Amino acid sequence: MFTLTDITQPSTAEEAYSTLIKRKNNQVIGGSAWLRMGKKRIGTGIELSNLNLDYIKDEDSFVEIGAMTTFRTLETSLVLKDNFGSIIEDSVKDIIGVQFRNVVTVGGTIYSKFGFSDLIVALLALDCDVELYKAGRMSLAEFLNKKYEKDLLLKIYINKKNSTSSYKSLRNAKSDYPLLNVSVSKTDSNIKICVGARPQIATIATKASEFLSGKELNDENINIASQIASDELVFGSNMRASREYRCEMSKVLIKRALMEVK
Ligand SMILES: Cc1cc2nc3c(=O)[nH]c(=O)nc-3n(C[C@H](O)[C@H](O)[C@H](O)COP(=O)(O)OP(=O)(O)OC[C@H]3O[C@@H](n4cnc5c(N)ncnc54)[C@H](O)[C@@H]3O)c2cc1C
Repeated sequence: MFTLTDITQPSTAEEAYSTLIKRKNNQVIGGSAWLRMGKKRIGTGIELSNLNLDYIKDEDSFVEIGAMTTFRTLETSLVLKDNFGSIIEDSVKDIIGVQFRNVVTVGGTIYSKFGFSDLIVALLALDCDVELYKAGRMSLAEFLNKKYEKDLLLKIYINKKNSTSSYKSLRNAKSDYPLLNVSVSKTDSNIKICVGARPQIATIATKASEFLSGKELNDENINIASQIASDELVFGSNMRASREYRCEMSKVLIKRALMEVK
C-alpha cells in the first residue's frame, strides 16, 4: 500500500496541476486500485473528485468522457452502446469484478499507458482524442507515443463515425491480465486493426490495415491481413506467454475480430 504525507482535493484543474508539479513525489490519485498495489511514498496526493470529471456527455459529433469516470459506468452506458456498439463494454466487462470496475478510472488507465490495457486497445480502434491540462488535446495514438511528462488527464473524446467495431482478448485465467488483446474497426471501407498486450502498449497494425482497406472482407483477404499484422508487429515474452505464442494467437484474434465487422 502507498503512503501519503498529505492529501488535497482541488476544486480547479489549475490548482490540481500546480500542486502536481510543485514536488517530484506529488501524485494524482484516480481510483487508486493500481497505486495501492505498490509501496510508493507519495508527497501530496491530488484527489480529483471535486473537479466533476465523472461523466459521459453525448454531444452532436462526439461523446466526451471525464477522467474520473469508472469502468463500470463505461460498461453500462447506453450512450456508448448506442454510438459505438459493444466494443467498450466488451473491453472492460471481464476485468476482475463489478466492485473493482466501480473503482478504476479512465484517467488512471489511459495516463498509465499500461501495455496490457483492454480499454486502451478498444479506444485506439475508434477515433479517440485525449485532453491533458498542460499538453492539451491530441489523438490517443499520439499520446501513447509521447514521452512521459507529468500532466493531468482531464477527459477523452470519441468522435462519432458510422463504424462497426470488435474487441477480442485472450487470458490464461478469467481474472488474469490479458496476454493479448485486439480491436478492429471498419469505417466505410477503411479498416483499423489494433493489437495490445504484445506485451508492449497497443499499436495500430498499419500495413495490415492499409492492405484490407477498400478490399472485400472475404476469408482470403482476412487471412492475408492477419499474417501481415503478425509479421509487422513486435511481440515479446513475459510470464504470461511467449513471443511465438502471442504472434500465432494474434492471427486468430485478428481474424475473429475482422469476421465481426464484415
Ligand atoms: C489487480 C489488478 C488487475 C488488473 N487487471 C486488469 C486487466 O485485466 N485489464 C486491464 O485493462 N486493466 C487491468 N488493471 C488496471 C486497471 O484497469 C486500471 O487501469 C488501473 O487500476 C488504473 O486505474 P486507477 O483508477 O486505479 O488509477 P490509480 O491507481 O489511481 O492511478 C494510476 C496512475 O495514474 C495516475 N493518474 C490517475 N488518474 C490520473 C489523471 N486523471 N491524470 C493523470 N494521472 C492520473 C496516478 O498518479 C498513478 O500514477 C488491473 C489493475 C489491478 C490493480
